Amino acid sequence: MKRIVIAGSGFGGLAAARALRERAPKETEILLVSPRPELLYYPGLIWIPTGLRSPSDLRVPLDSYFKKHRIRHIPGTVTGVEEKGRILVTDKGRHENDALLIATGSASLRKLTGIEHSRSICQGIEDAVAIRERIESLETGTIALGFAGNPNEPSAVRGGPVFELLFGLDTWLRKTGRRGKISLTFFSPAAEPGNRLGPKAVKNLLADMARRNIPTHLGAKLSSFSAEGVTTEAESFPADLIIFTPGLRGPDWVAGTDLPKSPGGSSRRKRPARSRTGPEPMWPETAGPIPDRTGCPSKAIRPTSRPKRPPTTSANTLRADLAQRNFGSNWSASSTASIRAPWSTAPRPGTSSLKAPSSTTPSPFSNGGTSPATAKKKS
Ligand SMILES: Cc1cc2nc3c(=O)[nH]c(=O)nc-3n(C[C@H](O)[C@H](O)[C@H](O)COP(=O)(O)OP(=O)(O)OC[C@H]3O[C@@H](n4cnc5c(N)ncnc54)[C@H](O)[C@@H]3O)c2cc1C
Repeated sequence: MKRIVIAGSGFGGLAAARALRERAPKETEILLVSPRPELLYYPGLIWIPTGLRSPSDLRVPLDSYFKKHRIRHIPGTVTGVEEKGRILVTDKGRHENDALLIATGSASLRKLTGIEHSRSICQGIEDAVAIRERIESLETGTIALGFAGNPNEPSAVRGGPVFELLFGLDTWLRKTGRRGKISLTFFSPAAEPGNRLGPKAVKNLLADMARRNIPTHLGAKLSSFSAEGVTTEAESFPADLIIFTPGLRGPDWVAGTDLPKSPGGSSRRKRPARSRTGPEPMWPETAGPIPDRTGCPSKAIRPTSRPKRPPTTSANTLRADLAQRNFGSNWSASSTASIRAPWSTAPRPGTSSLKAPSSTTPSPFSNGGTSPATAKKKS
């Protein structure tokens, strides 16, 4: 029996697992390794500071999802790979595989002096709850919100949730009658924050901040945070609460492997799948900030008008590759491939190297739903 191992139970790993189950030969074994059989619904974190969601709303249990799609969940934390990915090493054991898909997300750059004086809305439940508690305790003062990128990898940035939280807080503070006593300010080392959404978006975002009386501090490198506020190379400004999302980087466990890395520390394939012609083994990529064909970062939740198509590029590519490797004869739907998947095609130890896919199709992404309720329903 052939075995596919997937690392990570976020949107990437789950969407890939489902797509593979739908198309792989029935007898294929699909194992998914992650610390817990649950999905943390990251997009809902922005509602925790204002109390519109509680932590338990965002933890989606996956037992029924795994059962429905015949996926075996194995609790564990990945610590490395061996045999060019054919063995996934975790803190609880080693998992031999015929194909590996790595979707363990990304980590944050936390080198800035005084970063401990900030909280990130993208870090997880603990930080989101700490932000809520601090805002609750604040009678007067200033909340500074900002984000930065990874200088080594421009696409490794997550600004959207910061804008969402900024505008959400402004609205909420107004509704609750506290905005007069609590100031909001926005900062970023980028002169045009959000420019990856296009120049029009930057103009509109900054105009909206001006309209809402939110001063900005832009275009100067960040020097440090402290209990008093933010210092950049150009100025210092006070803050009673700093909400800051740093640039993204590859997960720590990848750093200790010999996987090829992107400049920002994510593991990367050496060259795109579509250019591969020979039997050369392919390294896993992590689901870090992977730019797509338009240069945008890879996102797990992406609207599509073709929901019946395979939900992730990764799964699509893996499926095509496995079909071509005679992994099984019963792959359903077309076996054409798309590009940029976090996976490995190196052969299992003791077997021969197999050919890579040559065809390509556009990359269909799933729309993972817009609420935990939708995610639960879909499972
Ligand atoms: C506040 C916020 C709002 C967002 N809003 C949106 C939005 O509206 N639209 C959108 O498209 N995107 C949004 N995003 C981005 C989106 O959440 C991410 O793109 C998505 O979660 C990435 O999915 P992933 O599966 O690659 O990684 P993750 O969601 O990070 O999942 C990684 C998985 O791997 C597991 N894992 C981690 N390390 C290990 C290890 N060593 N071993 C085993 N398992 C491990 C984790 O437990 C987790 O299950 C938002 C993000 C945040 C933080």
